[in-house]
Amino acid sequence: MQFIRRQLRITGIVQGVGFRPFVYRLARAHGLLGTVRNTSGSVEVDVEGPSFAVEAFVAGLRTEAPVLAKIDSVTGIEADPVGYTDFTILESHSDASSEGVIPADVATCPDCLREIADPSDRRFEYSFTNCTNCGPRFTIIRNVPYDRPNTTMSVFPMCEDCAREYKDPTNRRFHAEPTACPVCGPHIWLEAPGMASHTDSMLETAALLRDGKIVAIKGLGGFHLACDARNDTAVRELRARKGRAAKPFALMVRDMDEAERLCELDDGARALLRSNRRPIVLIKKREPSGLSDLVAPGNKQLGLVIPYTPLHTLLMEHSPSALIMTSANLSEEPLVFTNASARAKLATLADAFLMHDRDIQVPCDDSVVRHVPGRDPIQVRRARGYVPEAIEIPVECECILGAGGEQKNTFCVAWDKKIVLSQHIGDLDTVETFDYYQYAIDHFSSLLAREPKVIAHDLHPGYMSTKYALSRPDVEHIAVQHHHAHIASCLAENGRSERCIGLAMDGTGYGTDGTIWGGEILLSDLAGFERVGRLSQLRMPGGEAAIRDPKRMALAYLREAYGEECESVARRLGLSFTPLEHRVILHQLESGLNSPLTSSAGRLFDAVSAAVGICRDRDFEGQPAIQLEMAADERESAQYPFFAQYEEGALVMNAASIFKAAVEEKLAGVDVSIIAARFHNSFVEMVVSACEKLRERYGIGLVALSGGVFQNAIITYRMTDRLRELGFEVLTHKLAPPNDACIALGQVAVAAAIIKERQG
Ligand code: ZN
Ligand code: ZN
Ligand code: FE
Repeated sequence: MQFIRRQLRITGIVQGVGFRPFVYRLARAHGLLGTVRNTSGSVEVDVEGPSFAVEAFVAGLRTEAPVLAKIDSVTGIEADPVGYTDFTILESHSDASSEGVIPADVATCPDCLREIADPSDRRFEYSFTNCTNCGPRFTIIRNVPYDRPNTTMSVFPMCEDCAREYKDPTNRRFHAEPTACPVCGPHIWLEAPGMASHTDSMLETAALLRDGKIVAIKGLGGFHLACDARNDTAVRELRARKGRAAKPFALMVRDMDEAERLCELDDGARALLRSNRRPIVLIKKREPSGLSDLVAPGNKQLGLVIPYTPLHTLLMEHSPSALIMTSANLSEEPLVFTNASARAKLATLADAFLMHDRDIQVPCDDSVVRHVPGRDPIQVRRARGYVPEAIEIPVECECILGAGGEQKNTFCVAWDKKIVLSQHIGDLDTVETFDYYQYAIDHFSSLLAREPKVIAHDLHPGYMSTKYALSRPDVEHIAVQHHHAHIASCLAENGRSERCIGLAMDGTGYGTDGTIWGGEILLSDLAGFERVGRLSQLRMPGGEAAIRDPKRMALAYLREAYGEECESVARRLGLSFTPLEHRVILHQLESGLNSPLTSSAGRLFDAVSAAVGICRDRDFEGQPAIQLEMAADERESAQYPFFAQYEEGALVMNAASIFKAAVEEKLAGVDVSIIAARFHNSFVEMVVSACEKLRERYGIGLVALSGGVFQNAIITYRMTDRLRELGFEVLTHKLAPPNDACIALGQVAVAAAIIKERQG
């Protein structure tokens, strides 16, 4: 029998995921001797023993790795045996955890679920049960390295039992930094005005919810407002208190059975719902659902999440089986995440508070993913469970900060070939959100132990993110056009850097010519772009007002399509304007007063939605387009005529002809479900035919799709299919959302490529 020694280095996600105890157990199981330890970004193993056992051990590293580990490589060299007498876990090198590997929060694992359900277990019904395979991470880390004293768990000294588990390499809680139990860990309590003695906070909270009350619940990344989703009065009350008329609410459901009752699940949906990232999944709902119609009015989907912390699991056991779980914030403000601000800010929204005393260091919203059977999911909001996992990009860089956009802001920090995208921050136009943005940037920089040398930002001088970027001294500033950032983001997350036909379709972004872009075809690589196509332009009467009021865009398109007759057509469509409003809007369109030119695709969707009567009063961003998609009868395959022609070198797609055809059909009494479908089909075909023309001209067959319009499943999947049928290679977002949450990633990719070109 041959006796060998091998020194191994394992890279990937191998820290903070229980990898060393796993190695320890595996080595012991194979009767091997040696050591294991964390080093910068990798784990080093030194083993000796019979050669067959070493080989079996090496194979097991990959096949039996902990669920949260992701192994990129295992490399090894042979060495002379030194005669180890034991297998031990060595202390980390001190710099090990500062290597920028901070784990994301993980949903409760099956072992912990078993413990909280077992009356004989010391963690029976304990809301803060966790282990190395699950639990809070990103939301409780104050500083690096990721050790308990650097988390918000530092104020809870471990009891003897927990300490023993924590120190035992054979235990699932070996170095589980947030580990706790009822003796030593955090606790919950209920605060309800007028309710005295609380014996069992969880049962009492559930009783309040069953009784139709609205309860603020402190969770993992912030507070939620919860109420019974089947109780119409409760849901109406919640809408009234939040001042939120129509925006869909997400639901937490008790278990997978309840999810199956409410939605049409396939294996893809089930896998997303159960995944340990545990996002809210948007899935087609069943009818009748028994839910209040006010949960998601005008929407064919429901956003479902199953419990992801023991607290939620225990709460759902006794609560109504589907609860609305909506982020607790005042409109437009960031998520509330401290007990004090919850009491102050949510007093008028909630009837009671389910509190706990584990502080949330940094708020983090639920992630949202859209699922259509048989398709790649579309990311809508990337936050809890995903952040701060690094994304690989194809270009190397020094430390760059991407400041992001203005709406749905995220920022990112990039170095080497890695970028870490922040959680969803929100719209930067309130003081509170902008403060949160700056706080989060500082927190990220210190967690990653990196200071940017370059800040990439949007071209728009008025964006708060631009102002922030320019206010930072001693760094280089690189401005990146919004739609270029979109396309670069899609290229980069797909590991690509070559020139492509970039379809950037969204609401608004500042163009290099000072007009508002948003329906752009860019011949683009990471370092630069040329605008080779776009939607036809028209004016946005009243600027921002035309974004908030889709009827204004409808009138702008009507005037484009019908000229003088637009007034009578508007009347026949039932678009109501006072005579004064009508005159003012027409004057704005003619004079251009406060009415910038735009080629925005988002505004086209708004105009059609308002003109045909699907959504005329917007309650939330994107509503007209979402309801237009929801109205579409997907079996319908016909389309409207469209045309495109070259103007000054750019292919201009005339959207007004499609708009006009939709209006004519509405006036002729065609059902809106057919009109909505034909509009979607036409938009897809118009853009696809533009891609064919551009491929002919430039000889490029790679297409990248980005922008908020690609949250629309009909547009994304049909366009992808049609382009592939025609032999194009199509790239879509899979890691970042296609909306403006991907801008920061794209900004960094562009800046890195520009710097690299400069260096030659
Ligand atoms: Zn666990
Ligand atoms: Zn304990
Ligand atoms: Fe955008």
